[in-house]
Amino acid sequence: MKQVYQFHEGQGSMRQLLGGKGANLAEMTRLGLPVPPGFTITTEACIHYLANGKRLTTELKNEIEGHLSELEKQTGKSINDTSDLLLLSVRSGSKFSMPGMMDTILNLGLNDKNVEVFAELTGNPQFAYDCYRRLLQMYGNVVCGIEGYFFEGVLETVKNKYGVKQDYDLTVEQLKEIIAAFKQVYLDHDKQEFPQDVREQMYQSIEAVFSSWNNNRARVYRELHGIDHNLGTAVNIQAMVFGNSGDQSGTGVLFTRNPATGEHKLFGEYLINAQGEDVVAGVRTPLDISHLEKEMPEVYADLFKMATNLEKHYKDMQDIEFTIDNKKLYLLQTRNGKRTAQAAVKIAVDMVEEGLVTKDEALMMIEPESINSLLHPVFDSTQIKEDQILSTNGLPASPGSATGKICFDTEAAKVMTSQGHAVVLVRQETSPEDIEGMVISKAIVTSRGGMTSHAAVVARGMGTCCVAGCSDLEVNEELKQVRCGDTVLTEGDILSVDGSKGHLYVGEIPLIISENNDYLDTILDWAQERARLAIRMNAETVTDIQAGLDFNAAGIGLVRTEHMFFAPARLKEMRRFILSRNTEERQKALDIILNYQLDDFKEIFDTIAEKPAVIRLLDPPLHEFVPTKLSEIEKLAVELELDSNVLTSRINELHEVNPMLGHRGCRLAVTYPELYLMQAEAIIRSAIERQKTTGLRVSPEIMIPLVGMTPEVTILKEKIVAHINQIIDAEAVEIDYTVGTMIEIPRACLIADEIAEEADFFSFGTNDLTQMTFGFSRDDAGKFIQQYEEQGILPKDPFQTLDVEGVGELIKVAVERARSVRPDLKIGVCGELGGDPASIKYFDKWGLDYVSCSPFRIPIAYLAAAQSQIEQS
Ligand code: PEP
Ligand code: MG
Repeated sequence: MKQVYQFHEGQGSMRQLLGGKGANLAEMTRLGLPVPPGFTITTEACIHYLANGKRLTTELKNEIEGHLSELEKQTGKSINDTSDLLLLSVRSGSKFSMPGMMDTILNLGLNDKNVEVFAELTGNPQFAYDCYRRLLQMYGNVVCGIEGYFFEGVLETVKNKYGVKQDYDLTVEQLKEIIAAFKQVYLDHDKQEFPQDVREQMYQSIEAVFSSWNNNRARVYRELHGIDHNLGTAVNIQAMVFGNSGDQSGTGVLFTRNPATGEHKLFGEYLINAQGEDVVAGVRTPLDISHLEKEMPEVYADLFKMATNLEKHYKDMQDIEFTIDNKKLYLLQTRNGKRTAQAAVKIAVDMVEEGLVTKDEALMMIEPESINSLLHPVFDSTQIKEDQILSTNGLPASPGSATGKICFDTEAAKVMTSQGHAVVLVRQETSPEDIEGMVISKAIVTSRGGMTSHAAVVARGMGTCCVAGCSDLEVNEELKQVRCGDTVLTEGDILSVDGSKGHLYVGEIPLIISENNDYLDTILDWAQERARLAIRMNAETVTDIQAGLDFNAAGIGLVRTEHMFFAPARLKEMRRFILSRNTEERQKALDIILNYQLDDFKEIFDTIAEKPAVIRLLDPPLHEFVPTKLSEIEKLAVELELDSNVLTSRINELHEVNPMLGHRGCRLAVTYPELYLMQAEAIIRSAIERQKTTGLRVSPEIMIPLVGMTPEVTILKEKIVAHINQIIDAEAVEIDYTVGTMIEIPRACLIADEIAEEADFFSFGTNDLTQMTFGFSRDDAGKFIQQYEEQGILPKDPFQTLDVEGVGELIKVAVERARSVRPDLKIGVCGELGGDPASIKYFDKWGLDYVSCSPFRIPIAYLAAAQSQIEQS
């Protein structure tokens, strides 16, 4: 098995094997771009290493040695100190980019002896010793696991001692002092010397990069982005080029379009006399790429041309790392750039207009879940008071608005989140160690760093709002306080963050729905044209239904009628019904409820007009409607004119040990058919009235929940149909109604062919179906599901994304069996999975007619449904 590839042996399509970075370095090499030569050790080699006792095999070492010799030949340099010295970079790179999550070591190959040779060879001792101190620092951190701040501390002390501001101003003697102190850090914290043997450095670095696949931050990142833990990382070994060799050198990051807004203009930053990590770490504030045009016009022109061509080649916005070594330009990486949702929709639409991509390709460029952030509220600017403005000089690093309590580290963020507070993480700058805190924060603020700093890149990737480089903040992480002018805020104080503008406000600011976005509208039009699945909404209030209609919902997929009994007057009558002693009392209560329901359904039909609406008959166990607190029971006793002891004992009778598996759903109507008849009557009477007064065709779809046995449908449907047909006949009208069923019990899936003979339509209730298939209580599973994911027992929470093998198989079987007897049976999904992009793709493939989700997820669902069709074409 070949485990190592020279860059010129690979190509862009080999991401799985060579990792994204390796594949793109190979592709750029093939395109003749100026990539420093090197080779990639495959992800397979990593998987093998991790699975087999973390040992580099002789076979792999031999292969690496072969490629190293070839690299020495290609560069005319050697890793021995006798001739022109070859230094290496060792960088990770997995199939999916995980910015900053894994490890990198630069300037590898220096030691006490050859650094002198290197100083002579380059004629620049300051540069040579700067490279060596960087190597000691990175190697110590990445390979030996020594905390970075021990090295930072030494660097700061020496800089302060000599009054030096910037690293590049350190003299050779000062650098030597730092190097000596760094070596002591090794002895103090690792009990070992820094290895002088260059091969040992290389192999240890390779092992460290392999192992970094499983470090905590990488695992958290993968979980967050749904990346498989078994992919492994490749290792790229490449000849070093130096951005820190003087003021004709530099290094930077470039996006072919603005990753925050999508504006079609080169966007990037660079630092003169610096190496890669200086830009990303945000320690020095970089210059805007436009300065390069003035400082080094030829380099800029080359860079512009290459960036434009790379974008054309990859048909997507590129994120490029470059280094200028004595005015010569090198490309170190290109990848499809991470971007905000706002930028994503603009770039996709612009690229279609520029003729760069087709509409289908544009639709595939947008992560459905990401558009969530475009549908979210922004601060109401009319409500901001003068004295709330803390700072307006931060960078708008990732859009969105959020308010929360200030935290200065992950630990505090975790504690406050567990107490139910929204938090804002405030730091000088973030590093990959902060990932857990960043994930749970509603907003991220840093006082240092640019638009491509770690905080900015990661926040954009997560869709979390972020203000970076807000330099008028003095953040003291130790004292847990942040000062801005005269204002001092401490942990727990409330901060509002506007990541679209880069503004910070003290205290809370009310939010409003975000402004129209024409690019998003265009994308959604295209998505809707392309989708086969209809997208309906789960909604019962006029506001929600209107919101869904604004997103072009095809109808209502689920009205949960139990939500109509929250208002006190209705609740009282419902309680009267539940607690009555005989049919007569029950009927009296139902007659009053009928009037309420008539109003409810009329409102729904008014709003939804001629689009279909699935109305589900009452589903939850009845005890959910009765009070539990003594004081409330006593109050209710007075209202219902009952003795409180009698009432207490009736409430006790309603108690169930397993209410979710108890007297609920259609089981309620098996014992109290009058309940469903009342609801069905209210639906039909409202429909008749709407039809008569407006002339619109109203098509109610009446749904019976929690069916597990065919006779449940047969018996209940017969009663409902007889009851409503009587009304229809008496009114002498025609109403297109249907009576269908939810499929949410595994047994119902297995006998779906039988049920299909009786029911007019199916709708999968994936919440209950998941609960009952796994035997996981949907209300209690939160306590242990995370452990299941962490231990690899479950890849993902099955209540959030379809368990294809189990629940999915049941759905597939049910669809096949039902359609075998009724090929035209209308089938939908109305559980939470109806709004989950990954699940939607399966529902589409299996031929369902629609999915139904909460109104604000409708655009996401349309996009997922369109992508599913594109993928299948
Ligand atoms: C379901 O079970 O998926 C469903 C939609 O019903 P509910 O969540 O109301 O039980
Ligand atoms: Mg259900």
